Amino acid sequence: MEIEPRIGTGFDAHRLVAGRPLMLGGVEVPSERGADGHSDADVACHALIDAIFGALADGDIGSHFPDTDPRFKDISSLQLLEAAADSVLQRGFKIASADVTIILETPKVASLRNAMRHAMAKAMITDVTRVGVKATTTEGMGFTGRGEGVAAQAVVLLVPALEGKAP
Ligand code: MG
Repeated sequence: MEIEPRIGTGFDAHRLVAGRPLMLGGVEVPSERGADGHSDADVACHALIDAIFGALADGDIGSHFPDTDPRFKDISSLQLLEAAADSVLQRGFKIASADVTIILETPKVASLRNAMRHAMAKAMITDVTRVGVKATTTEGMGFTGRGEGVAAQAVVLLVPALEGKAP
């Protein structure tokens, strides 16, 4: 049995386009434009999923859920996060901490922070107190600053799931 903690980081970015919902952390954010992609293009969930697979040293979101696979077309990224979190359990770990930073010029998403925390914690079957969500702009600089896209980064800490202890 593994006894050491594991850490992983993730990053994702998607283009913002008209006619798509803006999904972030499993929550629909009121917005004139949404993120373009094969799935629902939820960058917060995607960064978190990559952090999980990174901590497990087990590929990445693209190797587990290819964007050429019709099964993942327009899928809720919460479902992908559920599957990634299931890999954590299968490997004998639990999520000690997950922390996501959303990088977006507009709209402001701080009021939806707790809804995102709850949605992602539920998908990972962990307590909401272990899931952090932060948001920042890049003060008008770069592709996020110009409103061309939305990005997110995440870090996850996995610890061994000791038998007899609640997740
Ligand atoms: Mg993505």
